[in-house]
Amino acid sequence: MDLFEYQGKQYFARFDIPVSPGGVADTVDAAVAQSEKIGYPVVIKAQVQIGGRGKAGGIKLANNAEETRFHAQNILGMDIRGHIVRRLWIEKASDIKREYYASFTLDRSAKKYLGLLSAKGGIDIEQVAKEDPEAIARIHVDPVEGLSTDICRKWVEAAKLDPEAHDGAVDILLKLYRCYTQGDADLVEINPLILTPAGKVHALDAKVTLDDSAAERHPEWDEYRGLEQLEERERLAKEKDLQYVALSGSVGIIANGAGLAMSTVDIVNQVGGSPANFLDIGGGANAQVMINALTVINTDPAVKAIFINIFGGITRCDEVAKGIVEAMSRVELRAPIIARLDGTNADQGRMILKENESARLIMMPDMLSAAKRAVEIAGA
Ligand code: GDP
Ligand code: MN
Repeated sequence: MDLFEYQGKQYFARFDIPVSPGGVADTVDAAVAQSEKIGYPVVIKAQVQIGGRGKAGGIKLANNAEETRFHAQNILGMDIRGHIVRRLWIEKASDIKREYYASFTLDRSAKKYLGLLSAKGGIDIEQVAKEDPEAIARIHVDPVEGLSTDICRKWVEAAKLDPEAHDGAVDILLKLYRCYTQGDADLVEINPLILTPAGKVHALDAKVTLDDSAAERHPEWDEYRGLEQLEERERLAKEKDLQYVALSGSVGIIANGAGLAMSTVDIVNQVGGSPANFLDIGGGANAQVMINALTVINTDPAVKAIFINIFGGITRCDEVAKGIVEAMSRVELRAPIIARLDGTNADQGRMILKENESARLIMMPDMLSAAKRAVEIAGA
């Protein structure tokens, strides 16, 4: 689960990471009231779950009520790359001497945590990684050993932060590490982490992704739920208990099991196509689940072919086949289906599809030929 900046800062504050005092506002009047309470100058910040708000005009400095009113008016309702601003975070403006970058995430292949630190923060870190990779100091942290003060200090030196920022940076990074591990996050990122002219190190932005698998340990996360900005289709999928991730291509994908769904995404790419989504209908998928899945995919206007890839284990192929046929009678699908069924009750399933085969429902004998066919149709 992704947090908004203001929630991320509240999360940081629990771990004693220094952030600016501030408050949220959903209206222009509330923005003015917050600004008066905080004291000028303040920064008005669009709360959307996407970066680059500064460049998009979603972050403005205000020196008085009139300026707050003006900026809040402009920013509320603003569309930042498809994300509509519904809420503002207003905080005490900071003086900035330098902008750094810091983050922790998981490096799955190394089976360790990965810390990134750079003296070139504030701007696109992806761009820094591409143009000046040396400017990012990386460390791997063994989860069992943890992060020691010593190693953290060497890391800060390697990143070439200004000497006066060293103590403050070490302190924040150790706290950020605690936030990442004890706070059960998948990602914590501070960009920019700033050095003030007074020599203080401070988090000016917050990006936190919580690990949903740890939700059981954190009843307090409930307050974040319902505020998430999901796309309409993702919301529909969530309502129907489907594991759906939107992608940008033209081949809709339905598979049972996350592993098979990922392989299906891969094979579509491999044969030159582009997946429109990842959708895992899970084990034990029945006819209703297939109807739900097709309903969700059908709301995506980019979909030109729907590749259904099922390997029956607990899931029975005849059930899936019934679901496909029933869905086709109930929902007017925008794209033809290319189906591959294998595993439990595959023969019965194929028989059901065979009786209903048409240009809108194509059966293929294996995964590769089905992928090729789907991409051929989507590309045409
Ligand atoms: P992002 O563009 O979505 O990453 O939003 P950030 O919160 O990182 O803000 C973008 C940029 O706005 C920062 O890199 C700063 O340069 C600037 N900024 C944000 N808050 C302040 C502040 O309190 N004072 C000053 N002077 N600049 C700020
Ligand atoms: Mn930022």
